[in-house]
Amino acid sequence: MIGDRLKQARQSAGFSLRALAEQTDVSAMAISKYERGEMTPGSDVLLRLSKSLGVRVEYFFRQATVRLEAVEFRNRASLSKADECRILADVQDRLERWQALDEIFPPSEEMCFAIPDQVPKKIRSGDDIEQAAIAVREAWELGHNPIPGLVDTFEEHGIRVIVTPYIGEESFDGLAGRAGDMPVIAVGSHWPGDRQRFTLAHELGHLILHGRLVDGLDEEKACHHFAGAFLAPKDIVIESLGRKRRWIEPRELMLLKQEFGLSMAAWTFRALELGVLDKTTHGKYWGYLRKHGWDKNEPGPRYRSEASHLFEKRVYHALAEDWLGESRAAELLGMPLVELRACRNMECPADAADQ
Ligand SMILES: [Zn+2]
Repeated sequence: MIGDRLKQARQSAGFSLRALAEQTDVSAMAISKYERGEMTPGSDVLLRLSKSLGVRVEYFFRQATVRLEAVEFRNRASLSKADECRILADVQDRLERWQALDEIFPPSEEMCFAIPDQVPKKIRSGDDIEQAAIAVREAWELGHNPIPGLVDTFEEHGIRVIVTPYIGEESFDGLAGRAGDMPVIAVGSHWPGDRQRFTLAHELGHLILHGRLVDGLDEEKACHHFAGAFLAPKDIVIESLGRKRRWIEPRELMLLKQEFGLSMAAWTFRALELGVLDKTTHGKYWGYLRKHGWDKNEPGPRYRSEASHLFEKRVYHALAEDWLGESRAAELLGMPLVELRACRNMECPADAADQ
């Protein structure tokens, strides 16, 4: 058991066998034997390994109770095998921590993911996709307004979202999978919020639309459409832009992006999908964006990255009620005990760094 855990922690921290050996002064051969279960490390070695890997010693003895399955990477082409392993190990670790909390707070009925009944059984057209997006918004009681935090919204409706730190050199957009019955979506923490939100909404599209699209509708394109329609529903787009436009000022799109957390690029596609811009004008508009380099780097302030608050809130809730102890709470939050104590005292180093 220690072997698998050690390997997972090593991959998650991004160490090769050799790099970890150098850090800990334990031979690579020995570490490899520990990982394969051919040798058991003593407590002194375990302590050194745990320090270098940034985990508590208890981590090595924790039984994995949840497994990430049916994993699909997005934009897989640019990721190396080693990066994939690191990302998977990190996602797996965070899933296990969530699972530990689920044992304290069992997920309620409404926290189980289900496709709302109002979603059309057969999706035949763009209109059906718009309808599907509205149906999810209604079932989740989101109204028509911008959705402030998508991660917590997904979590509250039974989709586990893992925001994983950027690892490696190449782009990692996200991945989708399952842990038991629960859908899991992971996104990279380094991306601007509008990109993360689009990835999340696109993955929600797969969950909602998969198996419902008639022949001839491409699932990827349909999920892009769904993502836009979910983040900025039809009525709101018309209300914000008007029914028909000859041109749109870039600054309008920038302001809408800040309001809805939907990129300027995605807003132009909403305008096209809903006939606010015709195809020719949309093409010209893209030429104009490209000329300024705005197709790659959108102008204006960066939209804040998504973060999950639910997990942290629950850990403190459990702590307040004495359902778990300080050292367990620190382990779940992935922070040293001193830091947890500082946070309990409202002197969290992370808060100071944000200011
Ligand atoms: Zn997709």
